Amino acid sequence: MENANELREALAPLCPVSDEPALLRAHATDKSGLVGTPGLVASPRSTDEVVAVLREANARGVPVVPRGAGTGRCGGAVPERGGIVLDLMAMSAILEIDRREAIARVEPGVILGDLQRAVEAVGLWFPPDPASADDCAMGGAVATSAGGLRGAKYGTMKHYVLGLTVVLPTGAVIRTGARTRKSVTGYDMTSLFVGSEGTLGVVTEITVRLLPLPESDGTLVAWFDDEDAAARGVGAALDVPVVPRALEFVDARALAAVAAHRDDFELGGSAGLVLLECDGAPEAVERELALFADALRAAGAVFVERATDAEATQRLWSARRGISPAVTARWPHRFSEDVCVPRAHFVEMIGDLHAIAARHGLSALGFGHAGDGNIHASILMERGDDEERSRARAAVADVFRRALELGGTLSAEHGIGMTKREFLPLELSEDHRAAQVAIKRALDPNGILNPGKIFPAT
Ligand SMILES: Cc1cc2nc3c(=O)[nH]c(=O)nc-3n(C[C@H](O)[C@H](O)[C@H](O)COP(=O)(O)OP(=O)(O)OC[C@H]3O[C@@H](n4cnc5c(N)ncnc54)[C@H](O)[C@@H]3O)c2cc1C
Repeated sequence: MENANELREALAPLCPVSDEPALLRAHATDKSGLVGTPGLVASPRSTDEVVAVLREANARGVPVVPRGAGTGRCGGAVPERGGIVLDLMAMSAILEIDRREAIARVEPGVILGDLQRAVEAVGLWFPPDPASADDCAMGGAVATSAGGLRGAKYGTMKHYVLGLTVVLPTGAVIRTGARTRKSVTGYDMTSLFVGSEGTLGVVTEITVRLLPLPESDGTLVAWFDDEDAAARGVGAALDVPVVPRALEFVDARALAAVAAHRDDFELGGSAGLVLLECDGAPEAVERELALFADALRAAGAVFVERATDAEATQRLWSARRGISPAVTARWPHRFSEDVCVPRAHFVEMIGDLHAIAARHGLSALGFGHAGDGNIHASILMERGDDEERSRARAAVADVFRRALELGGTLSAEHGIGMTKREFLPLELSEDHRAAQVAIKRALDPNGILNPGKIFPAT
């Protein structure tokens, strides 16, 4: 940044800022592995400090990249064009939990898992549950409309955000939505900002709705010793006329990786696993799990087991949450995508993923939220050199094309960021992209906020 010193001096009285090299390095990347070079890190403690940073940056035409915990997988928080990384993690207060209204109001730096625990302590429940819940921040979860394990029954962040305080790129502050369950006053600006990946405004306060804590829950796991049976198992579970709160599928390669990573070889050696969870009144949970167990056995599961105690349940779900780190440890070079297809095509898409990788001389693995058709599809590389990466990139493009052919979408919950933006024209028409870019330009006339994310030309 040419005028970094000048900018630092201008901002220092308004907001904590630093250009200390170790801090800049820590804010250069996210879990996409892409890297940028920030000139400055600003760590606001209030909406007013965010306003001050954005006003100054807007006047000078300096890029600002909002950042939560940096667990995003698409490069959304990577300062590709330098400038200021706006680290929202110092704004980490749970401002209010209102039991009667069943709402919570939080700052963007609150860790999502901390909010879950805080509301559970008073008998309420916040269902969105990304596998990264203990690491990611609420602002990042809003900005990506994070989903996770309970999406099958309870949806994603966008189904829980009632209202936001947003600082626009010009420094103006708006409050969207309401504390009420219903509101149709003007355009639905809350929905516009949820999932906008930090390109339209900086979220500084979030109001979410809560549910009563379910009375009970139960977990069922089914193991398969051949891939076709595992596929049939997913199909059979989807046909049961009950919505489980989670319905997860893990393929053989992902299972082997997590077994090795956790030194838990019981988890490996299977051709596929279906893991599901039901919640509600105890009798209903028992009845529903029995229906699923019957369906999975009929589909050819070699072993179906109800987790009988909290420890067994915890072990299974923590293994599921641990897949991503385990796979990354085994294959540091991989492209990890989160396509979503109509649920009826989930199994077909997993098969197509493997076929596509093989066509490009590579291997793949797939796991994910079968209950909502969301596949975490990894194209694996052994060396990660240029030649292998270019084959893997071509395989990823084919995976996207196939997901779209099946009526799906490029991203279920991770967003577009930098990694998927070149593929956007596969899904959104030129007119549609132009309409979205017009919104971006209206809110961010100088193009300072997270420029180039989602839409390369912005
Ligand atoms: C191991 C692992 C497992 C994961 N599992 C899941 C999963 O199950 N489901 C799922 O949906 N995701 C998952 N993710 C992805 C990621 O954790 C989520 O997208 C998460 O919500 C990102 O939050 P963050 O605070 O880390 O955001 P960051 O990575 O810091 O930022 C993400 C995006 O949000 C923007 N942003 C951040 N804060 C703000 C703000 N206050 N205002 C405006 N924009 C902002 C950034 O500019 C960026 O574009 C996983 C990631 C990992 C590493």
